Amino acid sequence: MSKYKTIIGLEVHIEQNTESKMFCRCSGRYFEKEPNSNTCPVCLGLPGAMPFANKKAIQNTILFGLSFGCEIAKYSKFDRKHYFYPDLPKSFQISQYDLPLCGEGVCEFEFGKVRIKRIHQEEDTGKLTHIEENGVKTSLVDFNRSGVPLMEMVTEPDFSSADDVVTFLKYVQKVVRYLGISDADMEKGSMRLEANISLSSDGSLPNYKVELKNINSFKFLKGAIEAEIKRQEEALDSGEVLIQETRGYDQVRKKTVRQRVKETASDYRYFPEPDLLPIVLTDQDIEEVKKGLPELPSKKQSRFEDSYGISAQYAELLTEEKEKADFYELLVKETKLDPKKIAGEIINNKSYEGVVTVEEFLKLYERENPKLESDASVITDVVSKVLAANSDAVAKYKAGKIEVIGFLIGQVQRELRGKADPAETKKILENLLS
Ligand code: ZN
Ligand code: MN
Repeated sequence: MSKYKTIIGLEVHIEQNTESKMFCRCSGRYFEKEPNSNTCPVCLGLPGAMPFANKKAIQNTILFGLSFGCEIAKYSKFDRKHYFYPDLPKSFQISQYDLPLCGEGVCEFEFGKVRIKRIHQEEDTGKLTHIEENGVKTSLVDFNRSGVPLMEMVTEPDFSSADDVVTFLKYVQKVVRYLGISDADMEKGSMRLEANISLSSDGSLPNYKVELKNINSFKFLKGAIEAEIKRQEEALDSGEVLIQETRGYDQVRKKTVRQRVKETASDYRYFPEPDLLPIVLTDQDIEEVKKGLPELPSKKQSRFEDSYGISAQYAELLTEEKEKADFYELLVKETKLDPKKIAGEIINNKSYEGVVTVEEFLKLYERENPKLESDASVITDVVSKVLAANSDAVAKYKAGKIEVIGFLIGQVQRELRGKADPAETKKILENLLS
């Protein structure tokens, strides 16, 4: 047991899959397009270009907020966040500072409560590629992604282990996929994670936090958090004073490495974006968006357990993806088979992979579950034959060794190639032996 309390808060950026970008009409689907082919004066930050907000993106962010119990602000606004970097053509990002679209929310997990501090709307940057050509190092910039809608979720420091962080983030990923608002693919960069970690020796919030950045898989995030906790423990043990900084993860050495000493909020010189109107919403606007909220994975999972009598583990597997859950429910409704049996089949039998229609399922189901022989006269004939051929076992049974019935059932199954109804066979055997 460590003498320090680990305190972790998260910042998650999720890129939306809207048709168009956040503040212009360029396509929001930039992946694998010819570099700089998907741009216009707005997303290139040319002087005089006027941005206008994407309504669908704002609705998506509201849906995301509602899914985590966030209060939706009736008045929020856009702000300019200034910093200089070659992938940011305006030298500022349009984001939200003091009045975010989604305010506080709470979410329950097995490990405890997670409080959401805020979720705000912003835009993505361009993308840099660093290459070396003829021995010369060059950086290339592609603005196709510049201005794609981005949502940023910030949590309170409610996590105390890497495992809890991963559980939460996997849930966030599942939710945005259920909502259909992002593919949340970490390798492609459409879901980006940052964890703020500090250790406390007396339970109170320390005056520093170390930000882990640029981590593109759950596995690396877990590794990075665990390595960082260890580094901080050792530093504190040796009397070192820890400072606010940004660190990355060296996957090979399994150590975190310093990237930069962090700026504070005032370094960004935030001020209200003068070219965009504030976002003003009525109760009715919010109600209207709420109607588009699907049943969320956690709720679906518990409903599956209750209505279909399946285990929590099965319910979790079946609700992993919305499509999978919908197909399961279609099968329950259309085939009239036992829901538990259907769940067992599609979870445990690889033959069902790729099956998407009820017809395909039933065809396979019949192949995988040959009809049982339950005709009493057919079974009785075979049972009589088996009893005649196994007088030893019969004698043992009659002498009180009733467990030999298992052997006799096995013999009947052999004769009927495994198709004998086991319950019926046992009943007939017991009758003939008594
Ligand atoms: Zn554009
Ligand atoms: Mn951000």
